[in-house]
Amino acid sequence: MTDTQFLYLILVIIYLIECCFWLPRNSIAFIKGSGWKIKSSAWLLGNSNGAFAFAWPFPLLGKAFIGTIPSISISQEGIANRTIEGNPRKSSKAATIISYDNISSISNIGKIVYINETEFYKSSSEKHALKLVEILSELWRSNKREKDIQNYTDSLFDIDTLDKNLTEFNIKTKTLTWLCNIHFIIMFIIAPIIVYVFGVISLIISALFIIIFNFVVIGFYYYSHSNVYPEFKGERITDIIKMGLCPPMTVRGRDYLSLHYLCSFHPVAIAFVLLPAEKAEEFAKKTLLDFNKNITSNSDSVIWHYESMKKEITAFIEKRGIDINKLLAPPEPEAGVLSYCPACHAQYTFINGTCSECNNVNLVPYDGEKDG
Ligand SMILES: [Zn+2]
Repeated sequence: MTDTQFLYLILVIIYLIECCFWLPRNSIAFIKGSGWKIKSSAWLLGNSNGAFAFAWPFPLLGKAFIGTIPSISISQEGIANRTIEGNPRKSSKAATIISYDNISSISNIGKIVYINETEFYKSSSEKHALKLVEILSELWRSNKREKDIQNYTDSLFDIDTLDKNLTEFNIKTKTLTWLCNIHFIIMFIIAPIIVYVFGVISLIISALFIIIFNFVVIGFYYYSHSNVYPEFKGERITDIIKMGLCPPMTVRGRDYLSLHYLCSFHPVAIAFVLLPAEKAEEFAKKTLLDFNKNITSNSDSVIWHYESMKKEITAFIEKRGIDINKLLAPPEPEAGVLSYCPACHAQYTFINGTCSECNNVNLVPYDGEKDG
């Protein structure tokens, strides 16, 4: 391998690393490559806080968004820093519950939400933390809390606003998207061909051109970031410094803007806007089946929030014209099976027992009656 080939390999490796992003627990990645795909942190390589997801490396066709299940339970009694939805394995952990009367301040520093100047909850992103502070502050001061809680849960499924926000995002990042694509083509296709044909002397000229073009893209990144996230100046400055030092990172600029852009919406709502109908229905079905898992919690607020989210998701899916009974109907029995799990639809060849995958959910026999 020649020195220039080795240099190219390093550049590709750095770029592929930049295609990876951190997907926090309770979050779903919506990744577009040849088609839209859904990735849950539970299925990927990671730890108890999250996992690494990989965005489509060709920016021309790729898009990536993260949908986060709100991990704070909100009820009329107070706020709990835990939710059961999407996270049944952690449901046994005790939640911290604060009643509205005992709150004196709500704020955030970065991803951390503080209540009464004590760390209350670590969010998936600074954007999400800021949104939570805004919502919780509104509820804390509210004198019509029941209505405001309903407005909040409705807003998670407000598909019209979601659609409008996405259109706005595409307009605000259109030039940046084109520049990122051109940067990718110059860096990984045109420059290597020139160096291959004209030799090492052209390497210096190509590198110089890439560095100059990198600053042009960074300029547009700064401009797009100011339009999309005017309040996150610190993040903007950190990003452009990193991009100045590492041009492959600049190519991924659009993803940095898009990843947490839809953090105010429930993943099920995002699925119905981004994915083809069939895939969105499949995801909605999986989300609703998850509610059949066994749950426990030390807090009535957490249970109340869990039940209210189930109702909200069901209503949202029904509004899309989908027959819930048909969607959640037991799976067609395969030869020899006697029961199925109501939470994941896995089929079993025995009747009495629990599903090994679903936190000991009792199996449902196909004949409708338990044996013995
Ligand atoms: Zn199961």
